Amino acid sequence: MDCLFCKIVNGDIPSKKVLENDRVLVFHDIQPAAPVHVLIIPKKHISSMNEVLEEDLPLIADIHQAAQQAAKELGVDASGYRLINNCGRDGEQTVHHLHYHLLGGTRLGALVA
Ligand code: C5P
Repeated sequence: MDCLFCKIVNGDIPSKKVLENDRVLVFHDIQPAAPVHVLIIPKKHISSMNEVLEEDLPLIADIHQAAQQAAKELGVDASGYRLINNCGRDGEQTVHHLHYHLLGGTRLGALVA
């Protein structure tokens, strides 16, 4: 499948990993928009929020758990952070594999990713 994030999951494209388990992967965004900017993705290919099936809902919990762990690992759990999902054209989604941006390390104001 010609999906950038599937290639990152498979190791065909290198990434700077923060944490990984059998269901999710967290890695540093290649173009950080904040001092801390990582992406949390399910290893299963899901194109966007719109394609999340009922059977995928446990994965959403896994993603939230990974976000919590990554925030701690990256030292932003106490100061706070933002979790963002961009969906579709108006959401300005550019990679069509479900992902959540975790941003932190500064006062974020209106910053989006
Ligand atoms: O939400 P959106 O689809 O716009 O986000 C995709 C993100 O994937 C961007 O922040 C981009 O910098 C990141 N990216 C990456 N590594 C790549 C390609 C894109 O971290 N090889």
